[in-house]
Amino acid sequence: MTDCIFCKIIAKQIPADVVYEDDKILVFKDIHPKARIHLLVVTKEHINNLAGFKTEHSEQMLHMLFMLPKLAKDQGLNNGFRTVINTGTEGGQVVDHIHFHLLGGSVLPKM
Ligand code: AMP
Ligand code: ZN
Repeated sequence: MTDCIFCKIIAKQIPADVVYEDDKILVFKDIHPKARIHLLVVTKEHINNLAGFKTEHSEQMLHMLFMLPKLAKDQGLNNGFRTVINTGTEGGQVVDHIHFHLLGGSVLPKM
């Protein structure tokens, strides 16, 4: 996906404040944080969103799920955290590359 901003970050074509990387995911700080800690957890493979999720993506999604509590702990989020996946226009998705928001660092407003 040549015009995808997250693919460009993954390809190191544009900078980001990366906190973790492995063969399946990249994790970096959100440029407009909505909480004291606000990370984006992104699959290295371009997947549009949950609506485009296929069985072949299961391993990557499971890896992201397992990594979330580890990433939260590394950020010192010992009293909890919030994860969000926005999907599609009405779901508030702006960047069409699947990602978890990982938020915390204070008591978040109730949903
Ligand atoms: P979403 O609305 O779920 O698609 O979230 C996209 C998120 O990406 C927003 O919270 C943006 O602040 C964030 N974002 C957009 N561009 C960048 C960037 N270059 N580096 C870091 N975060 C970004
Ligand atoms: Zn992408």
